[in-house]
Amino acid sequence: MIPASFDYKRASTVDEAVSLLSDGGEDAKLLAGGHSLLPLMKLRLAAPALVIDIGRLRDLSFVRDSGDRVVIGALTRHRDVEIDQTLRQHLPLLSHVAGQVGDPQVRHRGTLGGSIAHGDPASDLPAACLALGATFTAVGPSGSRQIDATDFFQGFLETALAPDEILTEISIPKATGAAWSFQKFNRRAQDWAIVGVAAVRGDRTGVALVNMGPTPLRATPVEEALAGGASDAEAAARAAEGLEPPEDLNASAEYRRHLAQVLVRRALEQARAA
Ligand SMILES: Cc1cc2nc3c(=O)[nH]c(=O)nc-3n(C[C@H](O)[C@H](O)[C@H](O)COP(=O)(O)OP(=O)(O)OC[C@H]3O[C@@H](n4cnc5c(N)ncnc54)[C@H](O)[C@@H]3O)c2cc1C
Repeated sequence: MIPASFDYKRASTVDEAVSLLSDGGEDAKLLAGGHSLLPLMKLRLAAPALVIDIGRLRDLSFVRDSGDRVVIGALTRHRDVEIDQTLRQHLPLLSHVAGQVGDPQVRHRGTLGGSIAHGDPASDLPAACLALGATFTAVGPSGSRQIDATDFFQGFLETALAPDEILTEISIPKATGAAWSFQKFNRRAQDWAIVGVAAVRGDRTGVALVNMGPTPLRATPVEEALAGGASDAEAAARAAEGLEPPEDLNASAEYRRHLAQVLVRRALEQARAA
């Protein structure tokens, strides 16, 4: 439970963080809320030589109404996402999901950007971002670029971010008045999801899955079935199509496949009824 030794630097601007990342190369890691990185370091599953603390970059903690979108700074903590009035009005699915993450301590430390950059398939917020059609802004030595959430999650804890890039903003089209549902199946209230489903239905229909593969996933066959006029039950039956969910102490892969179909159906029915 004691991490390998590492150097620690605190960045006071995004540019400084990028410059420190560039100098540190593959051996450098950003530290935001620390609620995913530090457990990995304590288990020695991660051993960065340099930890760059971005937790005090207050400029990256904001929620901004930007016309037909809402833009959220990467350092915005889960609790702030949960209670922000702009998000509650225009992206209630995201606010609700933030309120379901871990326990109050986790929600007061963990950041939206950290959750996305970590790319854990068992995380709740990446699924909400996928369902809502989010776009992420990454800043690196050669400037900034936009990455669609669908292209962002590339493998187990692997994302489209380059080692010298920092995620700065999450931009999401408003889904004001859209029906939505988040189904999180776990044994105890504060546990990670055994399987989770985020769904939104309105101008945009999006369905995404938690803990059903190596990355946070869009339920593309479900979305396609709905677009083709399938009933909720018919669409939900395709929830696990082509997926290879993990096996662990909580559930077999077969159980997760079954659960995904049940939860997608519940999510679609709740989102229709809302
Ligand atoms: C007890 C416990 C229970 C939890 N339960 C849940 C749960 O139920 N659901 C859930 O979704 N999550 C859960 N989490 C995870 C929690 O949400 C984390 O806070 C979140 O996943 C990571 O955010 P962070 O700010 O803590 O990131 P950190 O741990 O600081 O960083 C995580 C990774 O992302 C990188 N990173 C961070 N910020 C950036 C950035 N801006 N740009 C580029 N890279 C960056 C870091 O270098 C690191 O590799 C739990 C965590 C704990 C400890």
